[in-house]
Amino acid sequence: MKTMEEVLQDWEAVIGLEVHCELTKLETKMFCGCKLEFGAEPNTHTCPVCLGLPGALPVPNRAAIQSIVLAGLATNCDIEKHTMFYRKGYMYPDMAKNFQTTQGPKAFCMRGHLDLSVDGRGAQERLFWSDLAEGEQSENMTRTADGYVAHVGITRIHMEEDAGKMVHIGGGEGRIAGATHSLVDYNRAGTPLIELVTEPDLRTPEEARLFMQKLRQIFLTLGISDCSMEEGSLRADGNVSLRRRGAKEFGTKTELKNINSFKNLHDGLAYEICRQAEVLEEGGQIYQETRHWDPSKKRTIVMRVKETADDYRMFPDPDLAPYDLTDEFIESVRAKLPELPDERAARYERDFGLTPYDARHLVEHRFTVEFFEAACAAAGDRARELAKPLANLALNDITAYVNAGEGIDFASTPFTPERGVALVSLLAEDAISSKQAKEVFAAVLDEDKDPAAIVEERGMKQVSDTGAIEAVIDEVLAANPDKVEQYKGGKTGLIGFFVGQCMKAMKGQGNPKLINELLASKLNV
Ligand SMILES: [Zn+2]
Repeated sequence: MKTMEEVLQDWEAVIGLEVHCELTKLETKMFCGCKLEFGAEPNTHTCPVCLGLPGALPVPNRAAIQSIVLAGLATNCDIEKHTMFYRKGYMYPDMAKNFQTTQGPKAFCMRGHLDLSVDGRGAQERLFWSDLAEGEQSENMTRTADGYVAHVGITRIHMEEDAGKMVHIGGGEGRIAGATHSLVDYNRAGTPLIELVTEPDLRTPEEARLFMQKLRQIFLTLGISDCSMEEGSLRADGNVSLRRRGAKEFGTKTELKNINSFKNLHDGLAYEICRQAEVLEEGGQIYQETRHWDPSKKRTIVMRVKETADDYRMFPDPDLAPYDLTDEFIESVRAKLPELPDERAARYERDFGLTPYDARHLVEHRFTVEFFEAACAAAGDRARELAKPLANLALNDITAYVNAGEGIDFASTPFTPERGVALVSLLAEDAISSKQAKEVFAAVLDEDKDPAAIVEERGMKQVSDTGAIEAVIDEVLAANPDKVEQYKGGKTGLIGFFVGQCMKAMKGQGNPKLINELLASKLNV
């Protein structure tokens, strides 16, 4: 099979996403007063409405509708004031009603968009075949200094409800194949769910991954869901088709269902792009089907041939009156919008003088935001001066630490934001080198001591005493007269040798910046 880079030279991938998000922060279900609780005893949170018993009447959850309107406003959607709930045929035991209540052609939120900044290695998936210059635009992408911005349309966000959960007993690994019987837990049935559908505007697996990450950050900021991909409260379906470069019409798409991590979303789509190219280049045909990405085997397998919209038998729910949102309601929700990640990044650039790159990567994760905000508050008047090294600390050392382990909680970790400020202050004063700063960072976490104490104990403090450094330089120059001659004769690369000798003489504790400056002035006389 060709690599994705090879495939994308001849083919363009057209990718769309459907993202399901459970509104886990709500108290109760979508159409009844049953409590929402993950991991409760099976069937302890059910009632006639969510079990679909005859005569039970649903009542929409106002807080759930506030949540979806928040999501719509945060993703630049138009809020549709007049909508209806529909019944969608659903014949499977995990939904006792035999239909799912959802929305029809008009959803609460329509016609939104998100802009994605793509940089680094991931940007190459689209940039290596593009010859756009900085500032130039083509289709939905604008080239920037360190990558590009993709403008991704959002078709709609609609409200629906989740199904219950089946547990199959007797088969292997809880699968239905070989099971002797199945149990059903209706606690999850009727959980408010929002589904966001994008336009087919994504062109690479990296863009799909970034879109999901950005959306997750927005939903977390809004506080409408815990967005746990492991527990399934946030999940994505990705569809992808190929067309020859320059072609306008779409190819046949396949769909990957229930992707539960950013990496699986990227890798599953990348595999599917390569597989489709192979089939098409051998003269074969792509079938519209749902496929399953198996990360352990690194391939996709067919699950089922796609059903068409007609199979769902959608019709307006006669138990639920058409829903009218007032301007007053929409404005009251708008007033609750918190500072969103893009706005926060803009503020970091403006107030702290950070680069766009640093600002947008800081807001990608909650722990980097928490650290940076708390550290800047602790730095007080020096916040702007120390912002750049604090951002570096968050994006490099703290991120590497979190990626290697369980995460970090700034309320209980020994590496408090205050100690972060103390560490970058030592660095800014040239008291320690950046290499030593990494050692201090690790030691603070291990030993739960202040950075200054660690520097003191380990004798790390850099010598910045000009007189002391000059004395060492004089010794080094006097011991190497031949090298001094060569340097003065034009071999300026020898400066590295002199710095090395001085550092050696000072047991690595000389301030390298000062040594360089003083050496240069002595040698260039
Ligand atoms: Zn209920």
